[in-house]
Amino acid sequence: MKLPIADPATARRYAGGLLRTHRAPLVLIAALHTLAAVAGLAGPWLLGRLVDAVVDGTTAGYVDRLIALGAVCVLAQTVLIRFAQRASMVFGERVFADLREEFIETVTSLPLSTVERAGTGDLVARTTNDVNRLQHAVRFGVPRVIVAVVQITLVVVAALLLSPLVAVAMFVGVPTMLLAVRWYLKRATPGYQRESAAYATVNGTITESVEGARTVDALRLGPRRLARVRADLHEAFLAEKYTLGLRCVLFPAIDLTFVLGPVAVLLWGGYLAANGHVTYGVVTTIVMYAYQVTGPVWELIFWVDEIQVAAVSLARIVGVRLVETDREAGDGEPRDERIEARSLRYAYREGHDVLHGIDLDLAPGERLAVVGPSGAGKSTLGRMLAGVHPPTGGTVTVGDVPLVELPLEELRGHVALVTQEHHVFVGSVADNLRLADEDADEDHLRRALEAVDAWDWVAALPEGLATEVGSGGAPLTPAQAQQIALARLVLLDPHTLVLDEATSLLDPRAARHLERSLSAVLEGRTVVAIAHRLHTAHDADRVAVVDAGRITEIGPHDELVAAGGDYAALWHSWQHE
Ligand code: ADP
Repeated sequence: MKLPIADPATARRYAGGLLRTHRAPLVLIAALHTLAAVAGLAGPWLLGRLVDAVVDGTTAGYVDRLIALGAVCVLAQTVLIRFAQRASMVFGERVFADLREEFIETVTSLPLSTVERAGTGDLVARTTNDVNRLQHAVRFGVPRVIVAVVQITLVVVAALLLSPLVAVAMFVGVPTMLLAVRWYLKRATPGYQRESAAYATVNGTITESVEGARTVDALRLGPRRLARVRADLHEAFLAEKYTLGLRCVLFPAIDLTFVLGPVAVLLWGGYLAANGHVTYGVVTTIVMYAYQVTGPVWELIFWVDEIQVAAVSLARIVGVRLVETDREAGDGEPRDERIEARSLRYAYREGHDVLHGIDLDLAPGERLAVVGPSGAGKSTLGRMLAGVHPPTGGTVTVGDVPLVELPLEELRGHVALVTQEHHVFVGSVADNLRLADEDADEDHLRRALEAVDAWDWVAALPEGLATEVGSGGAPLTPAQAQQIALARLVLLDPHTLVLDEATSLLDPRAARHLERSLSAVLEGRTVVAIAHRLHTAHDADRVAVVDAGRITEIGPHDELVAAGGDYAALWHSWQHE
């Protein structure tokens, strides 16, 4: 199951909405470019006046004045374009920033189960490739298209106002151009898609060969890998040749139509002027306009192509917004801090239940160890108890309110899942901690770090709490990173914690130190510890044995050992190891 892709109408609506939120700068840009384009129209017009004046006989003073006026217009146009360009670029950046922020917000609030089902690869491709492809079009394309449209409109209107009779000749090349562009655009998108797919394959094949170099050597796969690379390169060559072929038709066709316009104006206008219908000056001006319009038309064609490609990426990006949430926040207030599971079921894939109806009551403040063979469903149970996934059957409640009906921020104040994955985000130590509590002051942060025995090393960092960590920042050991994660928990202050083998990956020395930090965090909270090491189970108030998606035994350690069931057998075998 892939993530959804938005249909063209939805993507267009989204793009329209995005532009509408920036209406004010959009109007400013259009106004500035209009003024600049008007100043640009003055040059050819003055030249036309000059031609007419010379034909009729004039003074050197008049010629000087026209030339001075032309110089002023060029200067004005330069200054206007400077500000217009700047405004357009700022606009492009703003729109793109909005898009990116919104996308990140969508991605970070995606239901985990959906992401897991669709595979993270698809999501990563959308956050990287598609965002990159879109970036160029939004940052540069959108502003340039606005400019091109304004310029083309103004030049055409000016020419028509001056003399519609002459100006019609400007459009001689338009039918050929439209045909060529249509022909090209129809083939361009699949052509370029094939090209990027071909390069992606080449990249993949080469990366695989390099990463698996030992295997390739050991199995003497060299020649076969080489043949694969050659075949992939050949496909890339063919794809590239195809698009080059497309450009080889488009470019000359467009260039031809660009020559056609001015030539037609010259001939038709010349004929009209010779018969006294218009002045030579008007013809001069319109010929120049016919040339002037070619630049923006080219730009428009170029960007239409790029924007078509970007639209495909936009549809994929907007598609992520269409993922339905897996929970709907209600307004129930938990009565107390009791967590209860009733007939809890969960299936990662429909029809394949991993949990088969689990009932479990956690007494506030108790420690429950969950043990059982690998694949029994312990982690899945842990995720249910922490409200990470909505159950596919039954409920998990806190104080009689289903976990999945609590707003996410509130949920995390009740119960949190602690796993081995702890990520240090780029930013200061304080930023990393404030993810748990935005408003925490330095005193709070210090107390949280003290609680997990981490204040000493944080204080010893070059800039203390303000030290940059994460990739590129001060390096942290895995144990330190875990302590930061634990300090976040102190700040979140949930009454219940689900530990999924939180410390088992670390080396024993660090683990012992961390265990002290951890027990400080666990103090006074309800704890569900998913354990592979039985000694943690021994310390718990109760032990639950999970097997094949069911709780087969539950009770205090001593009782279970005395009862002589599965747990007793496990315990004895561990004792004799
Ligand atoms: P344990 O923690 O006891 O080792 P898990 O809860 O991780 O067990 O897994 C229980 C069952 O669910 C296993 O059969 C496992 O293959 C399956 N499972 C776990 N995670 C996923 C997932 N993301 N997608 C599909 N199946 C999963």
